[in-house]
Amino acid sequence: MKIAVYPGSFDPITNGHLDILKRSLKIFDKVILLLAVNPKKKSRFSVEERLEMMRGAVKDYPNVEVDFFDGLTVKYAEEHGAKALIRGLRAVTDFEYEFQLSAGNAYVDPSIEMVFFMAGKEMSFISSSMVNELEESGVDVSDLVPPSVIEAYKKSK
Ligand code: ADP
Repeated sequence: MKIAVYPGSFDPITNGHLDILKRSLKIFDKVILLLAVNPKKKSRFSVEERLEMMRGAVKDYPNVEVDFFDGLTVKYAEEHGAKALIRGLRAVTDFEYEFQLSAGNAYVDPSIEMVFFMAGKEMSFISSSMVNELEESGVDVSDLVPPSVIEAYKKSK
């Protein structure tokens, strides 16, 4: 069974993330959507809120699990029998960060490959921070995020 881990901050999960997830399921038998805390990023939602939004977003996906890990994602992958880490690329600006990340991961465990998906045609402008900004300014973001995120925005007011 081919297992992959898709790690991210998911603050919140967006339709861009879900597009990458759906496409990765064409290649992998099981994908673990992993909330990995990035200490460099200030978060809009708590870990529990983010997990709830992620679970809601993938409730109809039979081969997806949602989990949380506080350490190195490569270590998590090793412990869960995953051979690949999935990431998405939007603009060139993503490249540098992801390139560094993949080098760091390879240093820890070169047997775990990073697999990159190019952002979908209409998804490349979607980022969690942009969605948060738009929402805070009163813009309807329901085309950019799953319903579980819209509910969380309502609750957090
Ligand atoms: P992180 O803090 O780990 O970068 P994010 O939740 O911001 O977490 O992103 C997780 C991964 O998903 C990253 O590889 C990011 O480039 C990718 N990603 C985010 N939004 C999109 C999108 N709209 N299309 C494609 N990939 C995306």
